[in-house]
Amino acid sequence: MVRFDKVSKRYGPLTVLDALELDIAANEKVAIIGPSGSGKTTVLRMLMTLEPVDEGVIYIDGEPLTHTPRNGQLMRADRAHLKRMRANVGMVFQHFNLFPHMSAVKNCMEAPMTVLGLSRDEAYARAAELLAMVGLGDKLDHYPAQLSGGQQQRVAIARALAMRPRVMLFDEVTSALDPELCGEVLAVIRELGAAHDLTMLMVTHQMGFAREFADRVCFFDQGKIAEQGAPEELFAEPRNERTRQFLSAVM
Ligand code: ATP
Repeated sequence: MVRFDKVSKRYGPLTVLDALELDIAANEKVAIIGPSGSGKTTVLRMLMTLEPVDEGVIYIDGEPLTHTPRNGQLMRADRAHLKRMRANVGMVFQHFNLFPHMSAVKNCMEAPMTVLGLSRDEAYARAAELLAMVGLGDKLDHYPAQLSGGQQQRVAIARALAMRPRVMLFDEVTSALDPELCGEVLAVIRELGAAHDLTMLMVTHQMGFAREFADRVCFFDQGKIAEQGAPEELFAEPRNERTRQFLSAVM
């Protein structure tokens, strides 16, 4: 469903992704692990169209995610294409990124109204349902500052789901949380994965969760997938020396 076809990304002299090949099937749950700076977050940001691709193409269901701008400008048809392709993908960030001046329910209503054209009532109904699903049905009118980190992250998950994406990206979503708040966020993600047709791609430092949740784990090293496989194999018997070193340092 998602395919990175020889995708490269550079920042000046630094090659962050090096002709990356990655195929993700519909409904597959993929965990991305690897050392700091290996390009994990960049993969998600590119799929979210937050970073342009330097070389190669990212496809969703065989369609290129972006068209190359002509004369540095996207044509109107390209912008419509981009908007349609972007709607496939939702992302949850490490630092929640909620709108601080909006209540939980308003945070979840904003994009469905402005991007999808939902009426206020429709957007409210959708937001309230999703907030109830993440266990915040009684906090609709709370502002981010009135919520714990774990609750804010659950609002962020509901907000991404409100756009009805087919692919959900999670970027170290528990890293900014106190350990006792991680569990509630991971439980929501676990439930989502089990109950919905969603393709999920997750950058994580939580090896225990990756092992339990993912269908496949990809170990990134220096902008490439150095090793990938089913979690029970990759964690138990890593074949690559770099994977072995990494796992023995973090587990
Ligand atoms: P971490 O686990 O520390 O989050 P990561 O594997 O997610 O690391 P990325 O965030 O993808 O790594 O970054 C890969 C490399 O690209 C890093 O060396 C980072 O400093 C660099 N980088 C990322 N964004 C930019 C940018 N906008 N400008 C310049 N360099 C960048």
